Amino acid sequence: MMRSAEAVLTANSYYEHSVRRPLSHGALIGDMSADVAVVGGGLAGLSAAIDLRKRGFSVALLEAENIGWGASGRNGGQALAGLACDMSVIEGELGRDIARQVWDMSIEAIDLIHERRREYKIACDWQAGYLSGAVNAKKARELANSVESMQSRYGYQQALIEARAVRAWIDSPRFVALAHDPKCGHLHPLKYTLGLSRAAASQGASIFENTRVTAISRDGRGYLVHSRDGLVRARYVLLAGNVYLDQLAPRLRSRIMPVGTYIVATEPIAGPRANALIPSRAAICDTNFVLDYFRLSADDRVIFGGRVSYSTATPMNLAQSMRARMLTVFPQLDDVAVTHAWGGFVDITMNRAPDFGRATELGDDVYYLQGFSGHGLALTGLAGRIVAEAIAGSATRFDCFARLSHRRFPGGRLLRTPALVAAMAWYRLRDLL
Ligand SMILES: Cc1cc2nc3c(=O)[nH]c(=O)nc-3n(C[C@H](O)[C@H](O)[C@H](O)COP(=O)(O)OP(=O)(O)OC[C@H]3O[C@@H](n4cnc5c(N)ncnc54)[C@H](O)[C@@H]3O)c2cc1C
Repeated sequence: MMRSAEAVLTANSYYEHSVRRPLSHGALIGDMSADVAVVGGGLAGLSAAIDLRKRGFSVALLEAENIGWGASGRNGGQALAGLACDMSVIEGELGRDIARQVWDMSIEAIDLIHERRREYKIACDWQAGYLSGAVNAKKARELANSVESMQSRYGYQQALIEARAVRAWIDSPRFVALAHDPKCGHLHPLKYTLGLSRAAASQGASIFENTRVTAISRDGRGYLVHSRDGLVRARYVLLAGNVYLDQLAPRLRSRIMPVGTYIVATEPIAGPRANALIPSRAAICDTNFVLDYFRLSADDRVIFGGRVSYSTATPMNLAQSMRARMLTVFPQLDDVAVTHAWGGFVDITMNRAPDFGRATELGDDVYYLQGFSGHGLALTGLAGRIVAEAIAGSATRFDCFARLSHRRFPGGRLLRTPALVAAMAWYRLRDLL
């Protein structure tokens, strides 16, 4: 059901309209063998495929639709350090030392984007700089505390921008304080994802599109990964299917909740006018729980994301309602048309910490990466790298994440959705206080 609901969300993505996709990889037909079968052609699966090949493993990557069809090709493009949850969640569970390692890995995730852009010559419109924005005095105090805490606990530097200087960074009446982070930034996510796909193929990974994995079974020698017209015999399996694995791994599915989030792109805005909106051209995100995230594209559009929904149906009047939301930030764009509206689903965990591990119900050598909770553009790269390390026999870094405990959402999707809606209504209310 989710896939059909999403046809409309992909078809009108600005990203799809601004790239020329290469000739598609064929579907898998017949039997083949590989050391590792990777399920999912998003950033997580592709990143793993690249590093597995570098370590000498043969790789078959199976994608149900086409490369970047999921969140990886449709997201807000903001490449952020850290995790979706506060670092205190990790400290509370695993202690300061492991939390420090996790934080350092999240920084490595940003560096990895640059490493791969350079190594594989991926042109993806990188723009450095990220601003967190507080929309009221209470949130400004929280932002200042967070900047101070990240500096003192993790040595991470961000510059706090107080009310009187805000307009020099963003021409909006909405913000009362900002924090500028020069390390993070933004890019065109579909260009980057397709670049990684090219890189994986050039390293020798076998990539199949329109190949949905329908079942995973075992024989005496390893795993049998089935699709409609083919079969991969593999020693290891990596599940990197985000919220779309459905019945392939029901136990994993109960640990994440699909939450819809939506984006619009405006028509290009004449250069100086675009620069006046965000002179540094940094990506911006407010600090609300239900947040707005936006940036300028390389061709001077505003790419504005926000809203959430807990049903898999596309919201009514998506473009108009998102445009109205954008105008609360930039009322001066009243004469600017929205040309594209799209969205996708993020894989939220109960505590918003990522959920990586081994799907032992399917077998000890079945690994999974999920639960990026809307904060996966950079972290997926690192996740792919550390799962490749684990498969190669060095699981120390992977296990920092795998040790995190995750609660199941109770009662299946039908029951858990109303509970989540109630919780979100409460958080939305808190945003206003
Ligand atoms: C609208 C939106 C905005 C976002 N904005 C940001 C942002 O600005 N910054 C940020 O850090 N994060 C953002 N995110 C989150 C980020 O995009 C994701 O965390 C990340 O892309 C997840 O990558 P992935 O590879 O795990 O999943 P995906 O990219 O979703 O890839 C999973 C793939 O697996 C395939 N698949 C699933 N099941 C099967 C099967 N049985 N057989 C074969 N293939 C299968 C799917 O078809 C899909 O292509 C956003 C997400 C969305 C939806």
